[in-house]
Amino acid sequence: KVKALIDKLCLTRELKRDEWVTLIRERTHGTAEYLFELARAVRIRYYGHDIYIRGLIEFTNYCRNDCYYCGIRKSNGNAQRYRLSKEEVLSCCEHGYELGFRTFVLQGGEDGYFTDDRLCDIVSSIRTGFPDCAITLSVGERSPESYQRLYDAGADRYLLRHETYDCGHYGRLHPPQLSASHRRKCLWNLKKTGYQVGTGFMVGSPYQTPENLADDMMFLARLNPQMVGIGPFVPHHDTPFADAPGGTAELTVFMLGLIRLLLPRVLLPATTALGTIDPDGREKGILAGANVVMPNLSPAQVRKKYLLYDNKICTGDEAAESLNNLKERMEKIGYHITVDRGDSLNI
Ligand code: SAM
Repeated sequence: KVKALIDKLCLTRELKRDEWVTLIRERTHGTAEYLFELARAVRIRYYGHDIYIRGLIEFTNYCRNDCYYCGIRKSNGNAQRYRLSKEEVLSCCEHGYELGFRTFVLQGGEDGYFTDDRLCDIVSSIRTGFPDCAITLSVGERSPESYQRLYDAGADRYLLRHETYDCGHYGRLHPPQLSASHRRKCLWNLKKTGYQVGTGFMVGSPYQTPENLADDMMFLARLNPQMVGIGPFVPHHDTPFADAPGGTAELTVFMLGLIRLLLPRVLLPATTALGTIDPDGREKGILAGANVVMPNLSPAQVRKKYLLYDNKICTGDEAAESLNNLKERMEKIGYHITVDRGDSLNI
């Protein structure tokens, strides 16, 4: 039954909610292997064996929000807070450019210090200094005017995971000031502004059901984003979910395969969280249909402070300066890291 549903998804790119649920709930090792084979074929049809790299610059861990799962939530008094200056961000880009990065991802908590003026100044300096590079922002929920100003300053792409589609589930993961509907409104606003948009969710977040994941997939189909970032939930010791079980690599890669079939041209990273819970997570992600990796370009002294979850990898092959090791690992499984902006074909 599961195989037939995988075939149907591959052929029609459309499943009903109960079909998604069955597919997710009744998956087996065998059906997963079948899925990955199809997902790889689809990925190769559109993107060949290329892997795009993104230089991740975590430029602030101050955050006004209090998401129950996140290590940099406002209430975590043990987090050592930092912000990078414009000069520090630019020097990360310079270093990254030399290493072969042509996309920079500026990610941070929702930090009131970074007003539109300050953030636009940083974005336009990167735009001027690195005209052949894409600038991706991942700085949470802002007003439509703010998204427009940042876009006009030179940002091309925006990552904002919807986290979970279901309002009830969203409410169990976030304080009442935050809502699933506002988060989604922001995504539609970003799209309208002209950004290449990325969304996504955590796999195995507390209270998550196969029905929730089915709703997430159906939302992806409607939004039709250019990028989808998913990774396992990993507990952080200083959060209300310290003792909650984490998501598994097995379900995460299964969902990656499904996303590749649902949105064949999407850019799909094998995320840091997946690499954190499984030493072969990156490879497994790529072999399930992913085509992007995002090594860490943040200055070494702040990397450990951007701790969203426990044991987050930020050195070794995860670090941008170890790109050669990552290249070798990808070559071993038959894929090649390329020097390219790597724009989405899903336009
Ligand atoms: N503040 C921005 C936002 O809200 O989109 C960007 C930074 S936020 C820390 C980036 C992503 O980290 C979130 O979308 C969430 O999915 C992920 N994240 C946070 N805590 C996590 C955890 N404990 N395990 C796995 N992923 C987590």
